[in-house]
Amino acid sequence: MDLMQKHAHLLERQQKMLQAGLDEVVVCIDRILSPTHAIINGRETVLAGTNNYMGITFAESCIEAGKRALDDFGTGTTGSRVANGTYAMHRELEEELAKFLNRRSVIVFTTGYQANLGMIAGLAGANDTVYLDADSHASIYDGCAVSGAQLVRFRHNDPDNLAKRLARANDEGEGGRLVILEGIYSMYGDRPPLKEFIDVKREYGYTLLLDEAHSFGVLGENGRGVAEEAGLEDEVDFIVGTFSKSIGSIGGFGASDHPLFDLIRYATRAYMFTASPSPSTIATSTAAVRELAQHPEFRDRLRYNSKRLHEGFKDLGLKMCCDVVSPVVAVHVEDEASTVAMWNALLQEGVYVNLALPPGTPNNSCLLRCSVSAAHSDADIDKIIELFGNVVAHRETRAAE
Ligand code: PMP
Repeated sequence: MDLMQKHAHLLERQQKMLQAGLDEVVVCIDRILSPTHAIINGRETVLAGTNNYMGITFAESCIEAGKRALDDFGTGTTGSRVANGTYAMHRELEEELAKFLNRRSVIVFTTGYQANLGMIAGLAGANDTVYLDADSHASIYDGCAVSGAQLVRFRHNDPDNLAKRLARANDEGEGGRLVILEGIYSMYGDRPPLKEFIDVKREYGYTLLLDEAHSFGVLGENGRGVAEEAGLEDEVDFIVGTFSKSIGSIGGFGASDHPLFDLIRYATRAYMFTASPSPSTIATSTAAVRELAQHPEFRDRLRYNSKRLHEGFKDLGLKMCCDVVSPVVAVHVEDEASTVAMWNALLQEGVYVNLALPPGTPNNSCLLRCSVSAAHSDADIDKIIELFGNVVAHRETRAAE
């Protein structure tokens, strides 16, 4: 039996995409000019789908730190911290982050995906139950699968639905319960009603893990995330975050005030059995955390840009995925073929956004997703709005013919 046959249907889908132009996986970025501009297919393109929220990928201090680390420590750590040793710079990054987050301790993982795997499997075991928001990121679902815990899904952003499920579990008796929420949901850009979820926590009791992947550096007065914005940090037991967005690097972290938190290092395979991040990655991440702490104006600029793009799209009459302004600005398109066609037209006109199609989207919706950067200029935001306007107008003209 050919084991690859189970994927044959994907070929058909990819061919359909290629008939419409390019496909997101096939797009090749020839050259990166800045955090917000690149050469794609030989033409200068505005990047509006990078998650480079702070526009920090070319910050001088980060690049210098990375180069120094390459010179002084070489290209890689060649192994896990448990087996091959911790570098002083790993510790320095964890301390810098703990200071930024105002948490007792931080554990750095090699990617954000692995941070979720490691944290969830480190916290929950076979006798425990993990309650997941239905729209949770794939890494959260995978973390739950790896943990062996029982998985219970509740309706997206619905604290009453979670309460019902917890009440049912109370009758049955069980082990520990871990609830996982995200600070900003990656596809629609919406936030959880954190206060209401905390009310449920007080009534039923559970441990809360908050994935601040898209909100770390972005929300709250000091950039600590949605919990800081809501004034509820004391209620969040564990945080997960990534370096691939506002930190502009790669890696992930878990953070907590729990006195036993550091034992996760000895209890979770996603930390123990994979190589630690390379010296240059660690050094650029540490420099980026310092940049975020020293430049609150990046957050202000990001908010300003996000609001302009959100309002510009609303004025065009686009069907917004979320009413609240966030740096994820996504719009609904009615079907897969139109979404692919619009995405291609946008790319040809000179703007790169994310094409988001089922099954990776909430409610199997078809989306064009933009992520805003603090580094976008007014002219960039205007251009994104203008090109969306052109593409929508073109589509409406074709529909009327
Ligand atoms: N959590 C969420 C909510 C995410 O959106 C992502 C990535 N998009 C991750 C975790 C994984 O992070 P990374 O890509 O840095 O591994």
